[in-house]
Amino acid sequence: MVVPPVSDLNTLYSAAPRLTAWLRRLGHAVVPIDLSLETTLRMYSRSGLERLFAALDPRAVPAEYEDVYLNRDRYVRVIDEVMPFLQGRDPATAHRIVRGDLLPEGPEFRVETQKARRERYGPWGKVDLARHLATLMLLDLTNLFRTISPHLGLFQYAAKLSQSTPGFDAIAAELARPPNAIEALMLEVAATAIPAEVDLVCFTCPFPGMLLGSLTIGKWLAARRPAARRALGGGFPSTELRELEDPRFFDFVDYLVLDDGELPLERICARLVALRAGANDAPAPLHRTLTREDGRVVRHEDPAAVKPRFRDLPAPDYAGARMDRYVHLLSSGANVFNRLLNDGPWLKLTAAHGCYWKRCTFCDVHLDYIDDFDPLAAPKLADQMDALHAQTGLSSFHFTDEAAPPPLLVNLALELLRRDRSYQYFGNIRYDPGFTPDRCRLLAASGMIAVTGGIEIASDDLLPKIQKGISVAQVIKVLQAFRDAAIMTHAYLIYGFPGETRQDTINSLEILRQLFRADLLQSAIYHRFSLTAHAPAGRRPELFGIRVTGPEFRGFSRYDLEYESVAVPAPDPAIFAAIDRALTAFINRLCLDLDVRFWFKDVAVLAPTVAPDLVEETMKRPLVAGGAAGVDPRLCWLGGVPRWSHGLLSVSCQGGELYTARAPRWLADGILRCHPSGWTGATPPRPNELSPHGWYEPLRSRGMVLV
Ligand code: SF4
Repeated sequence: MVVPPVSDLNTLYSAAPRLTAWLRRLGHAVVPIDLSLETTLRMYSRSGLERLFAALDPRAVPAEYEDVYLNRDRYVRVIDEVMPFLQGRDPATAHRIVRGDLLPEGPEFRVETQKARRERYGPWGKVDLARHLATLMLLDLTNLFRTISPHLGLFQYAAKLSQSTPGFDAIAAELARPPNAIEALMLEVAATAIPAEVDLVCFTCPFPGMLLGSLTIGKWLAARRPAARRALGGGFPSTELRELEDPRFFDFVDYLVLDDGELPLERICARLVALRAGANDAPAPLHRTLTREDGRVVRHEDPAAVKPRFRDLPAPDYAGARMDRYVHLLSSGANVFNRLLNDGPWLKLTAAHGCYWKRCTFCDVHLDYIDDFDPLAAPKLADQMDALHAQTGLSSFHFTDEAAPPPLLVNLALELLRRDRSYQYFGNIRYDPGFTPDRCRLLAASGMIAVTGGIEIASDDLLPKIQKGISVAQVIKVLQAFRDAAIMTHAYLIYGFPGETRQDTINSLEILRQLFRADLLQSAIYHRFSLTAHAPAGRRPELFGIRVTGPEFRGFSRYDLEYESVAVPAPDPAIFAAIDRALTAFINRLCLDLDVRFWFKDVAVLAPTVAPDLVEETMKRPLVAGGAAGVDPRLCWLGGVPRWSHGLLSVSCQGGELYTARAPRWLADGILRCHPSGWTGATPPRPNELSPHGWYEPLRSRGMVLV
């Protein structure tokens, strides 16, 4: 099971351990191999740098990077100290790095002054500052090595070449030339890692920046491991290559798998096993798989196939994965979510397959990965967390959900508290009114540290068109609930949704400004609206005032669509640049009291029409309709086990302080019943079981929540 180059370096991508577990359950021997990580480690090693410096043409080095090239001996000398430091294996190296005389400093170091950088991290942030400096050094090297391959990035390889490219010609041309020095290193790593005797090599390819690496290795496999079959699947082919027609693709892989890999790989393995055994009976047909037969692309779909339900799959299997080898970069000290992701390694888990909402009009709701909602039961999810913790010794989890449903997270939190676990986790959600203040307190107590979710456009005119199912006021209240529970928040934002006017944009930016000022958001990112083939807006563009104009499909990818605005204003790149600049400032907590028109120097905009205190006033209001915890909320105690002796109750509260009061014994028993561990047998108490006696209110602020 291969993670092809190049992807994130901070942790193992989620599909590999998930599919490994499934195939092992079926009785197959599986070796997980992260060629993305291993290629990067090989490149950024003493011998790797020597090879790459020797391979590059000095005449091709841009003037800006000349000092990086001239300092090559220094890079070679320090790299074997820097990489173990970035892997977290040698933290004391930080002291030498921050002194400033170890790392060569190229153009990336000149973006900011040394003083500003040091002030940001402060006297106690040496390890972080050193991580940041070491990251800048790797970026300088990566930029220089683009003279060897223009496709190189620190987290991707040839993403631009592969993404939404309607024809295969450009990729085929790249695969036809001899490998460059970087690809030669990739292939050497593959030769070391992929066993000589192997029946099937599966490439899990979630992003376009992993395709060229996969196909390069696929071509090498055909020559060096001719008996091995090659399968490629994952998010990228499942969204972009569903209509693939170009047979040349199958020079590099044998099977292209769409959607969830479990059943297609099961069928491919069964076929290979039958072939090897020389069985006479035909194995079950392939399913959701494309192959080449007689020079033509053939689609295999077994109408009788029943895919395993997500809830029945085994826990991801990390056996064989080296989680201590991942690299923890720090490219920007200000964006807390970049930071969080890179602080891993995170164990990737999914609470629910698909999305419980599945209505947003820009989203791939017509594909299985969104449409097929299939949640795990909370105890099973907690079992998986326990299993992964036992296997790896790690206790940090990243839920890779499209949008984890609030009731499932609530039940997971109760289960984790019942089991007395102290894990930490974060994941993607929808800012759903189901996340009440009390539920957020419960989630925080169970280890939730952060959430990410789409606000898209903070406009009550546009949110209904997006069918997000939330209003601006609801978003504010939900963010407030997370903030008050000390859970970090990050928002995904869209610019240019069909029908968005300049007034919508400036109003939305004004609300964002207020959200950051109130500390309801810690980070956010803007994307330009993209029209995709599997979204409601892509299927029925006329309903959104737009018309699809391209691209002309030429047998390879069909995903991102070109369009023109017919009945709505067209997006303006200058506006996008302005709001992106503003957002960067907000994330850095700058200019939060400035009129948002300040950011639109080159384009005319009117003043926002939303009140300057809209967020503040909404925060003061009680919960909006739909914000209740549920039909029949129950009490949950987030503090410790109560003790009662001679009429005196003492119990540690959620914040750790000790609460003592003269109280009847039934109160201690009642608090115990409210603890998640007491929920198992007895019916969890309702508020009125404590309130007539006046005990409810004093306990509320100390850790008694309604969920
Ligand atoms: S955008 Fe998010 S919430 Fe909306 S349908 Fe897609 S996954 Fe679900």
